[in-house]
Amino acid sequence: MNQMLQKEYYNAFLQRNSQYEGTFFVGVKTTGIFCRPTCPAKKPKFENCEFFLDAKSALYASYRPCKKCNPLFPPNSESDLVQKLVKAVEKNPEKRWKTVDFAKLSIHEKTARRQFQKRFGMTFIEYARARRMGIAMKQIRSNISIIDTQLSTGFESSSGFRDAFSHVMGKPPSSAKDTTVLKAVWIDTPLGPMISLADEKLLYLLEFVDRRGLEKEIENLRFKLQAAIIPGSTPPLVSIEKEVKAYFQNGAYQFTTPIKYFGSPFQQTVWKKLQEIPPGKTISYAQLAAFIGKPTACRAVANANGKNQFAIMIPCHRVINTSGQIGGYGGGIPRKKWLIEHEANR
Ligand SMILES: [Zn+2]
Repeated sequence: MNQMLQKEYYNAFLQRNSQYEGTFFVGVKTTGIFCRPTCPAKKPKFENCEFFLDAKSALYASYRPCKKCNPLFPPNSESDLVQKLVKAVEKNPEKRWKTVDFAKLSIHEKTARRQFQKRFGMTFIEYARARRMGIAMKQIRSNISIIDTQLSTGFESSSGFRDAFSHVMGKPPSSAKDTTVLKAVWIDTPLGPMISLADEKLLYLLEFVDRRGLEKEIENLRFKLQAAIIPGSTPPLVSIEKEVKAYFQNGAYQFTTPIKYFGSPFQQTVWKKLQEIPPGKTISYAQLAAFIGKPTACRAVANANGKNQFAIMIPCHRVINTSGQIGGYGGGIPRKKWLIEHEANR
């Protein structure tokens, strides 16, 4: 590995840059342990670091996995703490969480907050509330009265319930019956968790949780559809999880989960053309523009590329700069590089 790349990795390691998750591992010569890029432990000097492209190589070089950052597990996957809390929510999804509840489970509220944010892109309280409001939504839709729903989800006042409901669903409880509902799942990958949104029939989004601008993307979607987004599962989500896992495990590029296209006819043309670039191949923005028969529309093509809401599935990572440089990527350039190499090495 050349010095420049080592320096780049070292800087990412210092900054705990999550866009590098899964793209390299660091062996620390003085301690004999190896870490992932985002390890919270104190950072060693550059000269005491050895860099590896996968965890296996670090193990072969006889480094032990760090106990703080667990480099053998998918980054920001469900830690024991997250699992414990998700289970607690599932056991009693109507519960309203308070600070004392964390103490009872001997969990630090702050730690829960940080781990949930990294894993789900939302705090635990937000997660639990979304789950609880999902149940409220279901109850109202099955003709249980708003007041009974309010009481069964732990709200003493109707205004408190209305506020909580509107906050999650974007609409008051009285509109529950004509609100579109999208469910969300989080998928572990070696490059960090991805979030996926779908209704009962179609997939609406697949992105890395730390993608730049993701919150706005989800907010736009919610606004456009006037939809509520809550944790849960639907057939397209089961299917996409399987396909994403297969892609990372053995490079299988088989994405058949039906998706919902938004965007202008031009954008949709670009997205459909992108799916004709085979895995392992890259093309330039200019070539893509020519490919759709608009050779001068290079910039518009690049824009449409950036608006893609289906990471990996609509392979915008296969489009690079005409100069051969890697170009931009919403999920971060290290991930783009990794994906291109992963597909080339299938
Ligand atoms: Zn570590």
